[in-house]
Amino acid sequence: MVNLNSPITELYRVGKTTSALLKKLGLDTVHDLLFYFPFRYDDFRHHAKISELLAGQNANIIGTIELIQNKKSARRRMYLTEALIADDTDTLKVIWFNQPFLTRSYKVGDKVSLAGRVSENYGSLAMISPVVEKIYSDDLIHTQGLIPNYHLTGNLTQKQIRFLIKEVIALADQEKDWLPIDIKERLRLLDLSKALRQIHFPKDLSEMTASRQRLGFTELFLRQLKAQMIKSELKSRRAIPIKFQEAETKRFVNSLPFKLTGAQRKSAWEILKDLEKTSPMSRLLEGDVGSGKTLVVILALLNVARNKKRSVLMVPTEILARQHFDHITRLLAPYDLKISLLTHSHKDPEGLKADIIIGTHALIQENIVFSDLALAVVDEQHRFGVSQRQRILDFGSTQERTPHFLSLTATPIPRSLALAIYGDLDLSIIDELPAGRKPILTRIITEDKRQAAYDFIRREIKAGRQAFVICPLIDESDRLGVKSVKAEHAKLDKDIFPELKVGLLHGKLKAAEKEKIMSDFLANRTQIIVSTSVIEVGVDVPNATMMIIEGAERFGLSSLHQFRGRVGRSDRQSYCFLFPSREEISNPRTVERLEALTRYQDGFSLAKIDLKLRGHGELYGTGQSGFPEFQIATLFDYENIKKAQAEASALINSDPRLEGHPLLREKLGEWEDQVHLE
Ligand code: ADP
Ligand code: MG
Repeated sequence: MVNLNSPITELYRVGKTTSALLKKLGLDTVHDLLFYFPFRYDDFRHHAKISELLAGQNANIIGTIELIQNKKSARRRMYLTEALIADDTDTLKVIWFNQPFLTRSYKVGDKVSLAGRVSENYGSLAMISPVVEKIYSDDLIHTQGLIPNYHLTGNLTQKQIRFLIKEVIALADQEKDWLPIDIKERLRLLDLSKALRQIHFPKDLSEMTASRQRLGFTELFLRQLKAQMIKSELKSRRAIPIKFQEAETKRFVNSLPFKLTGAQRKSAWEILKDLEKTSPMSRLLEGDVGSGKTLVVILALLNVARNKKRSVLMVPTEILARQHFDHITRLLAPYDLKISLLTHSHKDPEGLKADIIIGTHALIQENIVFSDLALAVVDEQHRFGVSQRQRILDFGSTQERTPHFLSLTATPIPRSLALAIYGDLDLSIIDELPAGRKPILTRIITEDKRQAAYDFIRREIKAGRQAFVICPLIDESDRLGVKSVKAEHAKLDKDIFPELKVGLLHGKLKAAEKEKIMSDFLANRTQIIVSTSVIEVGVDVPNATMMIIEGAERFGLSSLHQFRGRVGRSDRQSYCFLFPSREEISNPRTVERLEALTRYQDGFSLAKIDLKLRGHGELYGTGQSGFPEFQIATLFDYENIKKAQAEASALINSDPRLEGHPLLREKLGEWEDQVHLE
């Protein structure tokens, strides 16, 4: 008998290949499948007769195949499958691209259900690439009603995932509901089993909303619970107090080539005051890209080192670790401190004894024990979940001492929201950019303007500037024609800018190669760097004033905003050029999304718009919530965040170790393990 703990391989039609793909999605057991939520739904509730169809609407029709055949389109080098579908009112033309195998499964005379968008095709109506399923029973799961869509990988299909979930959905009844009953009643939330059924296969909008409400609340609640537990734990811990070195700090600040912004001063002050205490600091430093968080951190590092204590700075990528290392080494050169770099490829055996240790989160994973650790800083913390924070507390702590903790994020959220979502952290916000920064001129560039854009870039480079070019994928394997980074590099290096030096950067290079490429770019030995999205986080090359993004529609607005944040880091005018793929430039949704970037410079507005636009025409979109552990909840669920915080804090006050809630405690442990794998 299949049960919740059964491995997915025991299910019908799951072989080695499929289970390997499912594993990539984190799906090992039946339980995992049930908790793999759709990220959106197609709305095929509108069941129509063919004669009633209108162009532009989403509809579901049921009919019989009267004709189905493959054609090869010579010009566009692709297969077309054309079919005619009839019901008792009319006949409709249907076209699929590059799915010649359809004619093997679907034959003339088959009764089918189709779902998709109705469009104009040479003067008559047609459905282009609809989802199709044969009708065996009334139980249509792909084409009728609200149809769940899941994140996929490899060549897994929506149909496969739906089929598997459908097969095990009845087992949802065996999931134990760990949410305390009084909370459930107070907030009128669904039972877990019901919520699970309805999130996958909602009958109507109210079922979908209620299940999302319950499951989204749960995500927020677990996060808050964990946060509150860390907070109450921290109250009993002791930290090493760091005496504020006022004269030294002032001297350092005065030695900088620029003045600190007011917001940088205020944040630094808050941090330095916290460090003086004997209870551990637990603080978040929030500031949009380019706001100058690193400098504030350096002030803290300097103070700790002057107290003869140790700090670590952790970052998500090797490139960034190297860059911080170079930058901090340079700025703190006059102070005779030992600063070490610790990443997968740099393992300085003496490194752990340095005053300041900079490295990737490999540091955390390898369970290194630091002695005399007074301060732990995590940069770009949106890449880390709440329980990584727990681990940082664990590794740096001894019986007597817990390090002060500072977390840096560019997830740009307003104070009230940040306070609610990071329930356990105190907050410093840098809400001011360094003086003289100009908005980054952002333009969508169509193909006919490409040459002109290149000419512009060439002129800027001749004047001494540099450019980033970002491409979405590594290999030209994608049929969509998205620029691959290698092909793009070859093109720019050989054809477009033969007189310039063009570097290439992607995730498959060895660390030493990446470093060489970055240091060449930093020193302006290369003028253009073509990169995959590895560049996204943190790197700082103030002389680079142009950001060119190929296949721009492929990225979420938040990512695009992060890319753009790589330029505009000096008082020079900077530019961001968005090149959408040819076939996307006429898609109004793409254009609307990218236009938001041309209008808004701040990350919060963009994150909001992204969420709104993704939900467009679909019933829900998942934002890049910035929190790996959320499938449903987003930053904008303010009401829910407040509720979750209130409930979690009441519960922890009355039952700090959750002794009266064993199911919940178990769930929290499971949730942590899961988050650790992210
Ligand atoms: P982020 O907040 O994105 O981490 P960084 O700390 O990398 O930003 O700073 C961005 C750039 O701005 C760096 O080149 C840094 O040297 C510079 N910078 C920081 N503070 C100031 C300031 N007060 N005035 C001018 N430039 C500054
Ligand atoms: Mg940074």
